[in-house]
Amino acid sequence: MAVNEENYKEVLEKTNAAHATLVAVSKTKPVSDIQALYELGQRDFGENYVQELVEKEAVLPKDIRWHFIGHLQSNKVKYIAPFVHLIHGVDSEKLLFEIDKQGAKNNRTIDCLLQVHIAQEETKFGFDENELKLFLETFPKYQALEKLKNVWIKGLMAMASFTDDMEKLKQEFAVMKALFQQQAKPETSNLKLETLSMGMSSDYELALEYGSTMIRVGSLLFGARI
Ligand SMILES: *Cc1c(COP(=O)(O)O)cnc(C)c1O
Repeated sequence: MAVNEENYKEVLEKTNAAHATLVAVSKTKPVSDIQALYELGQRDFGENYVQELVEKEAVLPKDIRWHFIGHLQSNKVKYIAPFVHLIHGVDSEKLLFEIDKQGAKNNRTIDCLLQVHIAQEETKFGFDENELKLFLETFPKYQALEKLKNVWIKGLMAMASFTDDMEKLKQEFAVMKALFQQQAKPETSNLKLETLSMGMSSDYELALEYGSTMIRVGSLLFGARI
């Protein structure tokens, strides 16, 4: 079997013990692997590429909760808007307005996480701390103007640096934990920060220690990607 059942049980046990949610990241993996994990009870799956997600969604069971965890281009939102459960990587207001528009077209509210830039790498997308603060202050004003009614901001998402330097990872997760707790206060009807998405195969245990409520784990469950 292409799915590592032993690893799955171990990750799931640790996730449950932390009252968190495990998103199984199935990008580049075949439908049969997803089906195998589905049969073990897994329902939350994460994908990075729009076309791949759309193709998989079409043939897999309808009770799967599909998480979009990659970098989303505004012109592709329409393809996933009818069914996506949670969009993790919202990194601009422009993208949020497009998600809102497509949510309205599909007569639904689409749940989103704001991506926060914590890693050192230049290439990582996301709001920095100040941009996040500014955006969260602005959001209720949009709502007062009857805008962004079809998006629901559910929390924050972050990717830590690619490093095995534990101290560095701890530092980054600690920043996220503090931001999450601090920002969890201003609530409006469509803004309620209750999800903190951080932690991958190599760092999920540390992320859980730092208050992650949702981990995104791929290679530990499905094997390395080629
Ligand atoms: C691929 C990916 C993951 C999973 O990575 P693994 O190291 O295979 O667990 C998690 N989050 C994001 C955003 C990803 O792109």
